Amino acid sequence: MKDIVINLLKERGVILGDMAILVLDLQKKYYDDLTIEECIENLHHVLEKREVQNAILTGIALDKLAEKDLLEEPLLSILKRDEPLYGIDEILALSITNVYGSIGLTNFGYLDKVKPGIIGKLNEDKEKKCNTFIDDLVAAIIAAACARIAHSKKKDS
Ligand code: MG
Repeated sequence: MKDIVINLLKERGVILGDMAILVLDLQKKYYDDLTIEECIENLHHVLEKREVQNAILTGIALDKLAEKDLLEEPLLSILKRDEPLYGIDEILALSITNVYGSIGLTNFGYLDKVKPGIIGKLNEDKEKKCNTFIDDLVAAIIAAACARIAHSKKKDS
């Protein structure tokens, strides 16, 4: 199941390396010995969680259906326009950050607002694709990996 989810993300233009760069960026100020390999390893752990997989499967399916005009109105137009007041994309993504408690929430808020790296790229690609769900999902996966690192480092010390 984890491989299915990783391939789905890749199909939508998101690879683990791009997410790992942002995890490292966010966490290196706290842990200066953190490596990109550790970030990738933590992303793998996040993607092993059933709740995370379910959120990704659901969100990406809706993005793809909207892109192919296969949803009913008014939902189709809402998703294609990525209406700011829709909000279900963020709610779905929170089921990912929730797995690791409140630490994930702060980073999710930051990523959603600043849109660095791959998240900004997904946002720019909105003209050609429906990326309503995936930008929030990716921000949440990154935030969850950051939270997982914070929890595991606390245990180490
Ligand atoms: Mg969105």
